Amino acid sequence: MMKIQMVDLKGQYAKIKPEVDQAIQNVIDTTAFINGPQVKTFSADLAEYLSVKHVITCANGTDALQIALMALGLEQGDEVIVPCFTYVATVEVIALLKLKPVVTEVDPDTFNITAELIEKAITPRTKAIVPVHLFGQSADMAAIMAIARKHKLYVIEDTAQALGAEYVGIDGSSKKAGTIGDIGCTSFFPSKNLGCYGDGGALYTNNDELATLIRKIANHGQAKKYHHEVIGVNSRLDTIQAAILSIKLRQLDQYCKARRDAADYYDQHLAGLSWLQIPKRHQNSTHVFHQYTLKLVDPVDRNALKDHLLSLEIPSMVYYPIPLHLQEAFKTPDYNEGDFPVSERLCSQVLSLPVHTEMETEQQDYIIAGIKSFRK
Ligand SMILES: *Cc1c(COP(=O)(O)O)cnc(C)c1O
Repeated sequence: MMKIQMVDLKGQYAKIKPEVDQAIQNVIDTTAFINGPQVKTFSADLAEYLSVKHVITCANGTDALQIALMALGLEQGDEVIVPCFTYVATVEVIALLKLKPVVTEVDPDTFNITAELIEKAITPRTKAIVPVHLFGQSADMAAIMAIARKHKLYVIEDTAQALGAEYVGIDGSSKKAGTIGDIGCTSFFPSKNLGCYGDGGALYTNNDELATLIRKIANHGQAKKYHHEVIGVNSRLDTIQAAILSIKLRQLDQYCKARRDAADYYDQHLAGLSWLQIPKRHQNSTHVFHQYTLKLVDPVDRNALKDHLLSLEIPSMVYYPIPLHLQEAFKTPDYNEGDFPVSERLCSQVLSLPVHTEMETEQQDYIIAGIKSFRK
């Protein structure tokens, strides 16, 4: 049996090596390292995959979120609603732009923000909502969009973990996660569901004006060289990364399926254990399992479980150990320990198991047996 890893990028690469190597070599041969034709091709490929009008690539997922917020023309102190239980990037860019992050609880079972929780956090200064489609499934976008319209708020979807997930609307039509709000943002960090071989990110929108502005902001605030109309940033996807991503995009549905199959297998074998809860799936979204995250519901010493698994050479990870409002950098007098009990509890309950595109049944059987040998 192969050594078990949280993600197996090497095994994934081995299957597409000739194509990828050739694509990288082509970029080097033409030396079109910055904004080569492959960047445009990949943007078009991704737009087609997502059925979205505009895809604008950039340097990473955090930049995508920052550029999206910059495009909304918000003013200092304007409030942006974010979930308390998420990766730090989401709140970081809000604070950097001198906007005010307003954190909200999440649903204890799906780990996602909900329309009801958002509505409670809305004030006259609220301007935008950033739902994060955590671990691979879309938040309930129909309900979130209804709240946003009612209060005239922008919606920026953080799709860094859910690229490829499908959201099924009330009318039964399905849309890709990230294409429902005003702007969708994603990351091509190597371990993400569509990962490149370095850093990368993208924004998507169906709004022509926003697309033009986003393009400008990501390129030093210029549409025409040396004519800087707005303050921008320098955020580009490397040509080499774009070339790799076009190849990997063709595999994305297969990658999502492999992750989902692995998750189904875990579900089948772990559902019977009374001391943990398998990931709950949204009714209106497919799940692409960026993470397969268990919730330890009976008092279980998580560290002891982690150590037990590690003694069997089974890695596991805690995403995330500290809620946003208790992070040193984001502490404010507005929030105290105990203010977000659901998120705080989740931080001590969650444990993510290895899930990736190259999982073998034999590995999963070994992991499942390892968990059961900790406690029946
Ligand atoms: C990975 C991630 C990001 C940031 O992406 P980078 O490319 O690493 O900057 C943002 N939000 C979420 C939820 C993420 O998982």
